[in-house]
Amino acid sequence: MKQGIHPNYKTVMVTCACGNEFESGSVKDAVKVEICSECHPFYTGRQKFADAGGRVDRFKKKYNLK
Ligand SMILES: [Zn+2]
Repeated sequence: MKQGIHPNYKTVMVTCACGNEFESGSVKDAVKVEICSECHPFYTGRQKFADAGGRVDRFKKKYNLK
């Protein structure tokens, strides 16, 4: 590959809203995500991620759900 024509792609720590951290490749210095493979219900089968930041609690209050 030629030098200087590619972004500085490097390994960074990705921080998820659930508190999980993992390494990923990015041109950024730090990456924050709200869903990762540790907390996405597709992977976990439950909605652990829902507790992050109390977002679901606010949602439930808003719509008067238990
Ligand atoms: Zn996560």
